[in-house]
Amino acid sequence: MGSTVLTNEPKGGVLYLVATPIGNLGDLSQRAISLLSNVDLIAAEDTRVTLKLLNRFEIKKPLISYHEHNCKMAGEKIINELKVMRSVALVTDAGTPAISDPGEDVVKKCAMEGIDVVAVPGACAAVCALSLSALATARFCFEGFLPTDNSGRKKRLDALKTEDRTMIFYEAPHRLRKTLDSLLQSFGEDRKISLCRELTKLNEEVIRLSLKEAAELFSQREPKGEFVLVVEGAALDELKDDYSSISLDEHLQIYLDQGLSKMDAVKAVAKDRKLPKSEIYSALMVK
Ligand code: SAM
Repeated sequence: MGSTVLTNEPKGGVLYLVATPIGNLGDLSQRAISLLSNVDLIAAEDTRVTLKLLNRFEIKKPLISYHEHNCKMAGEKIINELKVMRSVALVTDAGTPAISDPGEDVVKKCAMEGIDVVAVPGACAAVCALSLSALATARFCFEGFLPTDNSGRKKRLDALKTEDRTMIFYEAPHRLRKTLDSLLQSFGEDRKISLCRELTKLNEEVIRLSLKEAAELFSQREPKGEFVLVVEGAALDELKDDYSSISLDEHLQIYLDQGLSKMDAVKAVAKDRKLPKSEIYSALMVK
């Protein structure tokens, strides 16, 4: 087996994105411990949370805060440190930095400045939940948090009505009921969902049921802890019953994504909609 063991010694001028546990501290990798122990500086989303983790592993390092509200200024500070060849680790409260967490901006800035960024992978709630979901894993899309305002949420879910890949959502417990109701309205009651709760923690639980059952269950049960929602993608048969909900372009795209040629996709759309092929062609040409 060809594998490479890279040195765990941090290099000056490199930003390390260090994944931290999402619950079980045993998930902090040996490489992460080694890097955090040896970098010049650690940038943390919440320095109090990170300090607890560092104390647990007896790591003592200077910390600066880098979170969504100070990321512009703190990002510049990180870049300046990297430019004078200091090594910096970026960590968030839990999981992989830059995944629904601060980090995206500073990684973009590093890319623009030609500064090296190295990932030290580990826990990510989305991947952990997907693997446990018992839903299709070959193709999936990560949606993170849905917008909190009603119209933004509806718009996003409308755009996902024809999504045939498994979808992954993050949600806070106090918004879980509202989100389950919105998913039910947009995707219908039979769609499968796996609610992955408190992953890697003492009360870890995976609840696999339909959207209707999930909404009913949590109308009676208080949602507690952290949740990832993994939702089954749209079945083509389901769409066939309701072509009015999707545009011609979206309809065509479904077949193109399946690998059909443009001509065959037009034929299939015409058949589904019981329309002449020429009508589909001309509708698409006008655009
Ligand atoms: N960057 C993190 C990652 O890699 O997973 C995600 C951070 S995001 C701000 C926090 C969300 O991740 C939570 O609201 C929840 O949806 C999900 N999450 C984090 N830890 C979790 C856990 N132990 N069990 C279930 N979901 C979790």
